[in-house]
Amino acid sequence: MSTAAERSDIPLFDLRLEPEDIEAVTETLRSGWLTMGPRIEAFEAAFAARLGVTHAIALSNGTAALHLAMLAAGVVPGDEVIVPSYTFVATANAAIYCGATPVFADILGRERPLIDPTEVQRLITSRTRAVVPVHFAGYAAAADELADLCAARGIALIEDAAHAPVGSLAGRSLGTIGLAGAFSFFSNKVLSVGEGGLLATDDDGVAARARSLRSHAMTTGTWSRHRGHADSYDVVGIGFNYRMDEPRAALASSRLGRLDEDVARRRALSCGYRERLRDVPGLILPFDDADVESSAAYVMPVMLERSSRRAEVRTVLRERHGIQTSVLYPAIHEFSAYRERMPGIHLPRTELAAGSEITIPLFPHMTEDQQDRVVEALTEVLAHGK
Ligand SMILES: *Cc1c(COP(=O)(O)O)cnc(C)c1O
Repeated sequence: MSTAAERSDIPLFDLRLEPEDIEAVTETLRSGWLTMGPRIEAFEAAFAARLGVTHAIALSNGTAALHLAMLAAGVVPGDEVIVPSYTFVATANAAIYCGATPVFADILGRERPLIDPTEVQRLITSRTRAVVPVHFAGYAAAADELADLCAARGIALIEDAAHAPVGSLAGRSLGTIGLAGAFSFFSNKVLSVGEGGLLATDDDGVAARARSLRSHAMTTGTWSRHRGHADSYDVVGIGFNYRMDEPRAALASSRLGRLDEDVARRRALSCGYRERLRDVPGLILPFDDADVESSAAYVMPVMLERSSRRAEVRTVLRERHGIQTSVLYPAIHEFSAYRERMPGIHLPRTELAAGSEITIPLFPHMTEDQQDRVVEALTEVLAHGK
């Protein structure tokens, strides 16, 4: 066995761009048109076609997509929006941007760290305007069940599909089951461009509102003025600058062409991890083997039976084995800002998962040797447990 010093470290995630990606971006830069132009239109069309959805609206980031989805769904001050706490903070923040209150629903458990529909049902009040499941790690939350629950009560279902630009539930693309889906193209996401996001919807009204609010609720865009279609504009609401730019759209389109390949590799690696970590004592593998195939396999989460060991396990992996890990996610309701705003919330299953989870390395060009090292290191450190 080699020592850590002789080996290169294994990153949690590694981004690799191909020459065609760089070419797509430089070609855009040479074109001299840098925002809201033909490349945005092309990317929106390509992404919509992939998802099988009518409208795809490219945005500056995934948080903007959540914000606009909620506004377009009619979330106003005083409303409640049911979200998981076991997610990135943006899911809940978006509700607060609208003046609404995020209401946290617990997850099903460590084996299935996805929003619990029974909890959602229990938390619905006359003020509930939207429910936002997160397809955590790229695995489908019960969006179909929630869609029925919401439809019966006139509540909007908005999917946080930041982890799942690919993936399906009973044959439907994740992010297209509810009224709107929010996607992220942040650096470490499955389809990454640095900063970027997208709102997908089949609803013409939601699409029109999101397109308008993306660009200050102006009645015409720069691109249409440039092409001589309009020479003035009105402002019909208080919108935002949530636009994507052309180099990012070009990069997104270029990388979209390899998305299936990338995700196939992520799934194969996820299956490899599951097979080899299944019998490691002290370890819980969330989700079922059969779920991998329809997921985006964004990350590989594992849960320690004994959460008290997490800090030590992560330290040993990093220091002795050169393996980078992360925690997805600390619970939102336990962050200072949220404790102050809404004290006294307890979500036992979320807290247990948030305290036990370790995200281990996963990226499409991860080698077998790298995966062997992660599996061996994790097996070893857990075998020597105190
Ligand atoms: C990344 C992420 C977001 C926000 O996306 P940004 O593009 O970073 O704004 C929202 N929800 C979840 C679950 C995420 O992981």
